[in-house]
Amino acid sequence: AKDEGRSCVRVFSPVIERRSFERLVLEAGLRGALERDELVLHYQPKRRIATGDISGVEALVRWRHPALGLVSPARFVPLAEETGLIVPIGRWVLATACAQAVAWQRQGLAPLRVAVNLSPRQFADETLLADIEAALAGSGLPPDLLELEITESMVVENLGHTLPLLTALRERGVHLAIDDFGTGYSSMALVKQFPVDTIKIDRSFIRDVLSNPEDTAIAEAVLALGKALDLTIVAEGVETAAQEAFLRERGCDEMQGYLFSRPLPPDEMAAFVTDYELS
Ligand code: C2E
Ligand code: CA
Ligand code: CA
Ligand code: CA
Repeated sequence: AKDEGRSCVRVFSPVIERRSFERLVLEAGLRGALERDELVLHYQPKRRIATGDISGVEALVRWRHPALGLVSPARFVPLAEETGLIVPIGRWVLATACAQAVAWQRQGLAPLRVAVNLSPRQFADETLLADIEAALAGSGLPPDLLELEITESMVVENLGHTLPLLTALRERGVHLAIDDFGTGYSSMALVKQFPVDTIKIDRSFIRDVLSNPEDTAIAEAVLALGKALDLTIVAEGVETAAQEAFLRERGCDEMQGYLFSRPLPPDEMAAFVTDYELS
């Protein structure tokens, strides 16, 4: 029996076997996750580097899986994207994030802009504009307190669809940010063609920004671009004071990362903002 087990392992790579098993479990569960109320949003604050004030928060989805615990979006968002479940999930994220921003204000916090990540599939879906309108109208959130984070991959494919959509959103007063800037092939074209307010320098460039000359050069180039085009530049994944100092010296507008705060559940986020403003 021992030998059989071993030959089994040789035939089916345990890594692949575990992955596809996990995939099956996740996919089966994801279909009902929304109805079972298993999805939650955490919020990560961004800080203006020059003034120290909080400029807004990014909503990040998590799945409270009954057996697996808190599942990261890196594990289920791609699956939701493939199966199309990202459309209803994304609709829920939009509505929940807008409602949360209004709830915080009712609790007495100063207005906070909330950023929501959009996925390619959701972006291509015809209902997106209506979903955004519904999230704003349903919550009463002023449009300029909503920011949408988009990536290059979702806009370059169908310019005829995306340019009017982004222009309509911008005219409504919704803010637009390009996420993971620099990781795709057409970052520059995007900045030129689309009415964006903000670019977020991807965490992969910030991690070694002090030690890797290529990363230093890329970060500096993005900061120069932001200055020239009068865009707000946010650095993602800032974990050390040395990274923050580098960014401050080069005029980066905002930072987001574990150095300031991890993503927090809504009540902890409210407590964080309150404590921060008192200190
Ligand atoms: P992202 O939009 O680039 O979000 C930033 C990710 O970096 C988050 O991971 C955040 O927790 C993490 N992070 C922030 N600061 C630091 C830091 O200082 N160090 C390190 N190591 N990591 C940091 P998270 O929450 O696991 O989300 C992963 C990705 O999943 C997001 O990347 C985004 O692409 C996607 N995602 C999250 N929520 C949603 C959503 O509601 N809808 C869609 N479509 N995608 C989402
Ligand atoms: Ca993001
Ligand atoms: Ca990002
Ligand atoms: Ca990123």
